[in-house]
Amino acid sequence: MKNLIATASADPGPVNEVSRALAVLRAVIDGMAEGVWVTSEDGTVVEHNNALKELLFSGTALVGHKAGEIVESDELQQAVERACREHTSSRLELNLEGVRPRVVSVHVSPLGHDLGGSSAVFFDVTELRRLEKVRKDFVANVSHELRTPVTAIRGYAETLLSGALSDPAAAPKMVDIIHRQSERLSELVEDLLELSRLESRELQLLEKPINLAMAALGASEAVRPKARARNTELVIEVSPELFVLADPRGVEQVVLNLLDNAVKYTPLNGHVWVHARRAGAQVELTVKDDGPGIEARHLPRLFERFYRVDKGRSRDMGGTGLGLSIVKHLVTAMKGDVRVESAPGQGSTFFVTLPVAPEVAGNSPASS
Ligand code: ADP
Repeated sequence: MKNLIATASADPGPVNEVSRALAVLRAVIDGMAEGVWVTSEDGTVVEHNNALKELLFSGTALVGHKAGEIVESDELQQAVERACREHTSSRLELNLEGVRPRVVSVHVSPLGHDLGGSSAVFFDVTELRRLEKVRKDFVANVSHELRTPVTAIRGYAETLLSGALSDPAAAPKMVDIIHRQSERLSELVEDLLELSRLESRELQLLEKPINLAMAALGASEAVRPKARARNTELVIEVSPELFVLADPRGVEQVVLNLLDNAVKYTPLNGHVWVHARRAGAQVELTVKDDGPGIEARHLPRLFERFYRVDKGRSRDMGGTGLGLSIVKHLVTAMKGDVRVESAPGQGSTFFVTLPVAPEVAGNSPASS
């Protein structure tokens, strides 16, 4: 903190003690992560610590300026004036714009002890507010996703109860809708539980050598009926020599989710290819389709929870909007990575990398 402390005096006695106390105070304030300033009685900044300059991204001097000249905020200026004149404290939150927008919580208080002037402590709450928003958005999304099937189930059940049950033409259709919507509801709940287990790290993932060809074939069997119904050709080309060090159930779920999407979003008579190759200490698995592809603007957000390119289409296909988010979490937990390359009209390719199993890393030549 500038100007606060006189240079330590060589004099013995109380002066030295005061100098030391001030030096300690200065070191504490300079070491704080929060920004601090002190103003004179007329609200002009007379001192501040380094953290404040960093927090405000201020390239110019703060000392000698009033609050309102440093931060564009009438609220802050008034809080400083109140602290100086009326000796009252205030808490406020500032939204600072600029290259790196920040949310800063400020506590302004009078210096007291007949000193005149005020002090203010600035906390950076940007990350906190961002997390609050993520949580609120998530709760809103979950409620919305749950509401859709619940409303349908309730509506059709009520219609059946109020007479439609005895209508032999309408009743089976309604029961069928109720059945499909309840399946959708349970898929959503399963996906949410899976995500929450992954995020809380409650799920203990194993690290075992897994034959990737077997895992890919296992996952492809689960989507084969859907592929057949859409006349989509599934081509699995994975060398039986490729082993990854990962969780067996996790790998199968990753491949299954990617394959399911590829089959689901590729129009009738399409093609889906699964390949794998050794890439140094990793194995790279690709799931490629010749479906509609995805516009570049969607790609950075594709792995977010509930992010969908085409909401209506995803729901019609029975998607929960959580599949890729689960893939991302699982792959990261297995010390791997996932990315996508796609463009409209050019299909989509998802790349998953996982650590190669050590026995294979040591014993077998780098082959694909
Ligand atoms: P969903 O349950 O909606 O399929 P996902 O998280 O699995 O949710 O996928 C997110 C979105 O990414 C999907 O809604 C879809 O718009 C898009 N998507 C995923 N895979 C593909 C693909 N192979 N081809 C085209 N779009 C895809």
